[in-house]
Amino acid sequence: MDLQFTQEEQAFRGEVLQFLKDKLPEHLSRKVKGGLHLTREDMLQWHAVLNERGWLANHWPEQYGGPGWGAVQKFIFENECALAGAPRIVPFGVNMLGPVLIKYGSEEQKKYWLPRILNGDDWWCQGYSEPGSGSDLASVKTTAVLDGDHYVVNGQKTWTTLGQHANMIFCLVRTNREAKAQSGISFLLVDMKAPGVEVRPIITLDGEHEVNEVFFTDVRVPARNLVGEQDKGWTYAKFLLTYERTNIAGVGFSVAALEKLKRIARKVQRNGRPLAQDPMFATRLAKVEIDLENMKTTNLRVIAAVAGGGVPGAESSMLKIRGTEIRQEISSLARRAMGPYAQPFIEEALHEGFGEEPVGPAEAAPLAAQYFNNRKLSIFGGSNEIQKNIISKMILGL
Ligand SMILES: Cc1cc2nc3c(=O)[nH]c(=O)nc-3n(C[C@H](O)[C@H](O)[C@H](O)COP(=O)(O)OP(=O)(O)OC[C@H]3O[C@@H](n4cnc5c(N)ncnc54)[C@H](O)[C@@H]3O)c2cc1C
Repeated sequence: MDLQFTQEEQAFRGEVLQFLKDKLPEHLSRKVKGGLHLTREDMLQWHAVLNERGWLANHWPEQYGGPGWGAVQKFIFENECALAGAPRIVPFGVNMLGPVLIKYGSEEQKKYWLPRILNGDDWWCQGYSEPGSGSDLASVKTTAVLDGDHYVVNGQKTWTTLGQHANMIFCLVRTNREAKAQSGISFLLVDMKAPGVEVRPIITLDGEHEVNEVFFTDVRVPARNLVGEQDKGWTYAKFLLTYERTNIAGVGFSVAALEKLKRIARKVQRNGRPLAQDPMFATRLAKVEIDLENMKTTNLRVIAAVAGGGVPGAESSMLKIRGTEIRQEISSLARRAMGPYAQPFIEEALHEGFGEEPVGPAEAAPLAAQYFNNRKLSIFGGSNEIQKNIISKMILGL
């Protein structure tokens, strides 16, 4: 496999770099590089910039607004965005629901919802998990009962990321209690502003309001919001999860985080020499860099499979496990590099406009929060233990 970029690919990289130089707002990259909190408006602003250029939904087919890129172009784009400090694309509409609608939605649904995802008219969130239904997702208990031309939804979802910003939620609901667990699930698009929907915050270890509980009491949902066939939602749910897992691996994110870590390790002095020359630290740094290089190749394989019309399979589970381990190791090393300065957790320091100077070097301020926040990586999108079960089933046939 030739891992050198061709001349055309190099030219494309130049185009991306120029775009980022011209269009990435400075206040956004400053926040991302500084590990500061991004507001809803920040995230929407970046979506709008990408959409204007036709680069927001870069893995959608051209007929629905994708740019028609191949695997390598997507890889280059994601890496350069991460290195430049661009905000992450909010995945729920673009990366999760979009591919499901394109593959399983009706023509009417595609025509209505896909442009709204691109234009930022809807902010989507994901209503899969429930108390007691996380790893065992097929046991979801939220019900949807057909009543004329509406479904009536009752139940509770949990861990709903950024649900406080959302006006729409895609939900797994039980439409058949008699059938085998996986056979009685449907995939429904629910208006979060409808009567009977209540969102309550969950504050996580890092002090952030990132996740929520969502309650449904007799919520009426038009039957036209059912995606695909009733009771067949498990197929669509699994299809979506493979995209989610590939996304969580976050190769570009790790490339940028590793660059920053190396800069810190060269700057920080320990026992009269740069920390990067400390054998114990350098060994861990080298190991994580080698793992990341290997990940890049696996990531390219997955992107190439998708670009060739395939869907990511067990590889997305492999990427999810290794990608999240790498991200967690980098945040551990960053804390280690900063020593005692990485200890204090000051929630206010994560928001722009915090008046006081943080204790110690500026790079240290967000490290404790990032370390805590990154604990989630090996849990969400299906825990890493569950990914190992999937790999053993799909690859080893166990
Ligand atoms: C920060 C965060 C954001 C999230 N965002 C969303 C979201 O937006 N939408 C959404 O729907 N969900 C979301 N989730 C939920 C996430 O998908 C679940 O937390 C995850 O699937 C695990 O489910 P659980 O929390 O119920 O844990 P459990 O399923 O109860 O698992 C507990 C432990 O047991 C292990 N375990 C369970 N079953 C097995 C098994 N068969 N073999 C081996 N080990 C097993 C698990 O690995 C885990 O360590 C989010 C979670 C977090 C932490």
